[in-house]
Order: sequence, then structure tokens, then C-alpha cells
Amino acid sequence: MNTEDFHPPKAAKIFMPPQRVLMGPGPSDTHARVLNAMARPTLGHLDPVFTEMMEEIKELMRYAFQTKNRMTFPVSGPGSVGMEMCFVNMITPGDKVIVCRNGVFGGRMIENVERHGGIAVVVDDPWGEPVDPQKVEDALKKNPDAKIVAFVHAETSTGASSDAKTLCEIARRYNCLTIVDTVTSLGGTPIKVDEWGIDAIYSGSQKCLSCPPGLSPVSFSERVTELVKNRKQKVHSWFMDISLLLNYWGSSTRTYHHTAPTNALYGLHEALLMLAEEGLEHSWARHHRNYLALKAGFATLNMQYVVKEPYRLPQLNSVFVPAGIDEKEVRRRLLDDFSLEIGAGLGDFAGKVWRFGLMGTSSKIENVMFCLNALESVFTAMGAKVERGSAASAAHRVYAENPMA
Ligand SMILES: *Cc1c(COP(=O)(O)O)cnc(C)c1O
Repeated sequence: MNTEDFHPPKAAKIFMPPQRVLMGPGPSDTHARVLNAMARPTLGHLDPVFTEMMEEIKELMRYAFQTKNRMTFPVSGPGSVGMEMCFVNMITPGDKVIVCRNGVFGGRMIENVERHGGIAVVVDDPWGEPVDPQKVEDALKKNPDAKIVAFVHAETSTGASSDAKTLCEIARRYNCLTIVDTVTSLGGTPIKVDEWGIDAIYSGSQKCLSCPPGLSPVSFSERVTELVKNRKQKVHSWFMDISLLLNYWGSSTRTYHHTAPTNALYGLHEALLMLAEEGLEHSWARHHRNYLALKAGFATLNMQYVVKEPYRLPQLNSVFVPAGIDEKEVRRRLLDDFSLEIGAGLGDFAGKVWRFGLMGTSSKIENVMFCLNALESVFTAMGAKVERGSAASAAHRVYAENPMA
């Protein structure tokens, strides 16, 4: 065949993405330090200089997760791959798994359980509410043969956080292992893997870690290591089999498993380093403070939260669209006129709710002020009655009253 049969697209040119402010459910803005780190020279995935950095990534991840787990490393793939990795390694066909569903991502956990041959016992809670520990305990009492309890710590589709510590404590009492989704919580709100006794945890690079999408930090307890070692059936995925991956990510041996995305890992290293420099407590407090300011501004704009105060995620603010406002038009104007991205509602919340992310490097005073002023501007242009400047004033007051320690 002749190469002339195939032509490059005529209009193809260098792709220059616009500079956005990302305040949706993820990705969040990538910090310049992380982008710069990723532009450094590509190394081979077995280069000794690179493998030395891999050890640092694992140490930095142990800090972020607050764990001594030996099996702590980033999976080459988005958060969904981290999710699937936990389920495919820990489920043997026929296993019963208690799965909590209070939003989109709990639903995906059910899919994972069933596709890997497990039996999902679903504990449902309404969207916008946390997982009810009492319901989980009731399900465990009714299903003494359950092996695993799986739940989402920070449900990004609704903005609700669940009490991971209590849920893990209940699971342990009934001899179950736990799988916990912390894609949106890692770096933004407290997670203490060892103290809470979490067995399998996964996260994502593009939410409160402010990396580009594509990597999933995971960590597994010794109980999971034992379970996987004693499996009689091979794990039903070659790529995600933890024991094979450990030939590369384990520290003693370093043999080829797959070509690790080296430059992406420079980015994760830099992001984790920045988190360590800031300190976890400071990062959690910063996320909380910016949430308080955004909330005060929203109140002046008649925007009501979906989630009750004690269960709100500071990094993911779900609010009802005020009556009489065209929600799609607001998002379009924010993007076109202000280059500001916010999130739409998912599932039952589609058309009724907006989701404002204040994640990682995006969680800062500039973004809170910019977003509130942009909303005022758009609402006014669309004919809503808004007292100009009131949202920003309310936010400023909160900052003044809550100085950063
Ligand atoms: C974003 C998200 C995921 C999926 O992560 P991807 O990187 O999009 O695959 C899973 N769980 C939760 C709670 C999320 O917010």
C-alpha cells in the first residue's frame, strides 16, 4: 500500500490548550512545579537513578497515607485502575462483599465486585448523605460469611464524606477486610491508614494532589499481602496482579513488568514532595479554610449546599442551582468568559446541582475570590438580583476571622 493513500489531517497544528482555572470535580490545576518536573529528561524505567526516585515516591506516599505498609506504590493508570486493582486481587469468585453506595462511585464498586465474580451485598444510602455505619453493621450481622467491606470515603458525585474510621472498625469486628476509595480525599481531608486499620486503599493523582490524571497511589496491609499470597486461583488480570507488579515496585528486585510512565512519576514525586513540605495538617486546614470562605460567598448568592454541614467535603462543594437560573448557561459563560471550569451534577443531580472543587493547588484564596466574582457577574448578566461585591466581602470576612496558623 502506498503512503499517499494516507494523509495527515490538513488543519493539524501544534495544540495549545487555553489556560483554565479548574474548579470542578477533578482534574484540579497542576502546579507549575509539577509540570516542570514532568518536562525533565526521560529516563529508562530500570535506570538506577530512576529506581532510587521510586523508593522516594514510596516513602512520600507512606507519609501521605499515614502508613508503614510495605506495599505502597503508584499504579500506572487513573483512579479507576487503582479501584479495579483492589477488587481483582482480593476477590475470588463466590466471595461476598458488602458494598456501600451513596453516589456514583459506590455504584462502580458494585460493578467491580460482580465482574470479578463476587457477590455484592449492597448497603444503600441516599445521595448526599454519608454511609450509615449502623446499616453496614446490620448487613454484616445478616451476612456472617462476608469477606470484604468496600466504601467510598469522599463521594465526589455528591460531596459527602463518610466516617472511614468507624466503618473500618466495624468491618474488623466482623473479620472483614476493607477497600476504601480515597481518590478525592487524599491530601484534602485526613486519612490515617494504619490508625484506622484500612486494608486496601486507592487514590488518584489529579484531585487533591494536583498532578495530571493518569496515576493511582495504592497501599495494601499485610493482611492483603497474605490473602493474595494464599490465593489458589491466579488473579484474573495480568497487568493488575500485585505479586507480579512487586517484582518491579518491590525494593529488592527490579525486573521489567511494564514500562513505567517515568515522566508522569517525576510529576507525582514533585507533588508528594510539595505536600510533605507543606505538611498534611496544613494542607487539610487550608482546604477547610477555603471551603469556609466559599460557603460564606455562596450564602449571599442564595446557593444552598446539598450535604449537611458535618459531612461536607471542603474540597468538593455541591450546591443546588438557585431557582430560575439556567444551570448549563452559567457553566458555559464561566468557561467562555472566565475560562473557569466547574462541575455539573451527575445522575439524579444532573441539571439540579453544581460541583465546585477546591482541590490541592486549586484550593486557594485567589480561586475563591475569582469564582465568587465570576458567579456574581454571570448571575447579574442573566438578570438575577445580586448585590455586587457581597459574595467577595463575605469571603474576605471569613479569611480575616480565620487566620492560617
Ligand atoms: C475521580 C474518582 C474516581 C475515578 O478516578 P479516575 O482517575 O477518573 O479513574 C474514583 N473514585 C472517586 C471517588 C473519584 O472522585
